[in-house]
Amino acid sequence: MTVACPQCQKSVEWTSENPYRPFCSKRCKLLDLGAWADGSHRIAGEPHMDETELDELIDRLERGQE
Ligand SMILES: [Zn+2]
Repeated sequence: MTVACPQCQKSVEWTSENPYRPFCSKRCKLLDLGAWADGSHRIAGEPHMDETELDELIDRLERGQE
């Protein structure tokens, strides 16, 4: 069984081996979390963060500095 990753729409296999399901990766899971945790990053009409912002966000989340 596969599901579409809510972040990037990639097909993800729904298995217990994927701790990030329904996301394809930790990156997508954190990005989804960040989308509501840090709304200030979002610009109307421009929902996608660039790679640098995303990496910074993941860094912050991993250090627990929300
Ligand atoms: Zn994804």
